[in-house]
Amino acid sequence: MKNYKDTLRVLADADIRATFDAAADRWGRDEVIISAIEECGEFIQAASKELMDKKRDPNNLIEEAADAIITICNTMHELHSLPELNGWIEKKMAKLNRKLTPPED
Ligand SMILES: [Mg+2]
Repeated sequence: MKNYKDTLRVLADADIRATFDAAADRWGRDEVIISAIEECGEFIQAASKELMDKKRDPNNLIEEAADAIITICNTMHELHSLPELNGWIEKKMAKLNRKLTPPED
């Protein structure tokens, strides 16, 4: 639980927002979005290999997850805001925790 909250704090960091702004300035808004689409596709491929391929590279899934997370956050920074994304993640994690909590009698 603590680790994902640390991750959210890192993503709200001003230096990271500045890097995302620089990426959008360099490549443009559409390319930021296209990059997220491509990286999510690569993550899906790596996750599929995790299930199907016994000779897979064990670091591939982690690398593609990092790419997907970064490009998704960059897209959310560009189109909405990272605090807004953080708020939704908090809501979704609370929902998951409620699902995992057995009902009281
Ligand atoms: Mg990638």
